[in-house]
Amino acid sequence: MSNAKPDGIAAPTATPVDDIPAIVGRMRTTFRSHATRPVEWRRQQLRKLWWGFHDHEKNITAALAQDIHKAELEALQSDGVWLKNAIIDVLADLDKWTQEEKLSVDLMSMAASPVIRKEPLGVVLIIGAYNYPFQLTFGPMIGAIAAGNCVVVKPSEVSTASATVVTNIITERLDPDAFAVINGSIPETTKLLEQKFDKICYTGSTAVGRVVAAAAAKHLTPTILELGGLNPCIISKSADAKLAARRVSWGKTLNGGQVCISPNYAIVHSSKEAEFVDSMANTLHKFYPNGMQASPDLARIVNDRHFHRIKNMLDQTSGEIKIGGRTDENDKYIDVTLVKVKDENDSLMKDEIFGPVLPYLVIDNLDDQVEFVNRISDSPLALYLFTNDKKEEEYILSRTRSGGVSVNDCIWHAASHKVPFGGIGDSGMGNYRDKFGFDQFSHHRTTARQAGGWFEAILDARYPPYLPSKLSQY
Ligand code: NAD
Repeated sequence: MSNAKPDGIAAPTATPVDDIPAIVGRMRTTFRSHATRPVEWRRQQLRKLWWGFHDHEKNITAALAQDIHKAELEALQSDGVWLKNAIIDVLADLDKWTQEEKLSVDLMSMAASPVIRKEPLGVVLIIGAYNYPFQLTFGPMIGAIAAGNCVVVKPSEVSTASATVVTNIITERLDPDAFAVINGSIPETTKLLEQKFDKICYTGSTAVGRVVAAAAAKHLTPTILELGGLNPCIISKSADAKLAARRVSWGKTLNGGQVCISPNYAIVHSSKEAEFVDSMANTLHKFYPNGMQASPDLARIVNDRHFHRIKNMLDQTSGEIKIGGRTDENDKYIDVTLVKVKDENDSLMKDEIFGPVLPYLVIDNLDDQVEFVNRISDSPLALYLFTNDKKEEEYILSRTRSGGVSVNDCIWHAASHKVPFGGIGDSGMGNYRDKFGFDQFSHHRTTARQAGGWFEAILDARYPPYLPSKLSQY
């Protein structure tokens, strides 16, 4: 069966670099006009965006099929329908979130009834990664619109068809004075990062995250950094190995393994190794009954550069290939591959794989497992643990850290559009989605409204001269 990608959606034209300052300036002028502040205006934009996703649903799934051969069901789950549901829930709660929030304070401050006003930050920049080109741009954008900001979106230039559809949805549906798309690669992003923003939300590799953070620091711009890393997956001695194999297979094959929270490597207890390997082989056969490459449900690697990056890792491994191992350059196809490796010096253990290859090691002792995880990366984006022993679970969770955790599953802690999603340390900072996104793109402005002149008698204690009688009150 041919896996030729449907062709058709052309790449977007790069934004002329010299136009970028004026585009950002236009957003700034709009923000200063206060046009984005009324909650009803925000609602209107969010509703228009919802209809944009609805009307462009076929274009979204076609673009993802063209870019990475993504199956329609996966595309709707992770992008098309996911984003529509995210908007519906934000619209339901927006009035509540935009209310002033009362603060509980001490006696001296009580008369001023301090509250938190939720105010927009200003002009926000969102830079997306290639693997979820809709969710990772529009996901944060929903929170930024809800909070009343102007937004500049920079889609990844790697997912070319998706970048075009992202551009079309924004330019067709949203207020052009408040929302803009910049297309391009490093020169365009570099120019963008020279501009002053009030927040930058960047999703991508840790290396480029450092470039973004350094550029943001020049303007004292706060950042949300959604980065990558080496996510461990522990199959412990108490795990249900068959169930683990099925769920790990799903977590590793989703989006062709091009997920920031894909398990990057597994640690398997020796008593579970044989069952885990056999069950994974059986699972993959059930997932792809006519063979992996023939299946319409397994995504491809996005481009030649990434294909060769993963293939090189695989070619250089000194591990034992237990499942898969085949690659096809013409199709940018890589088998779902399970490799038993000896240690962290293996080529598959050095960097984030970001493809359908899973190395695993056998380590039995719990302390050794914890030590290994922390040595390889002490702050992965996700950690997966398969166990049926509560004590073991607590032992591992309390001695490791990660952006998020799924126990007895993969990916699932980050699946809902309502949960906060973010990293820690090298895997990033900040999180967004639903109320967490609204808060990230809002300024929490503490506001006190002092009581009238009669209250001066009580406030007298704060004014000089600081008589000994006042001091004695402390
Ligand atoms: P990438 O870092 O190559 O590109 C991301 C964005 O940065 C693109 O828009 C690109 O144009 C821009 N960019 C690239 N080089 C740049 C430079 N030198 N200066 C300025 N901008 C530059 O990432 P990618 O390959 O698109 O995505 C894969 C990475 O993203 C993986 O590491 C993955 O783990 C991570 N990721 C993280 C999350 C998360 O939510 N934490 C989600 C998806 C992907």
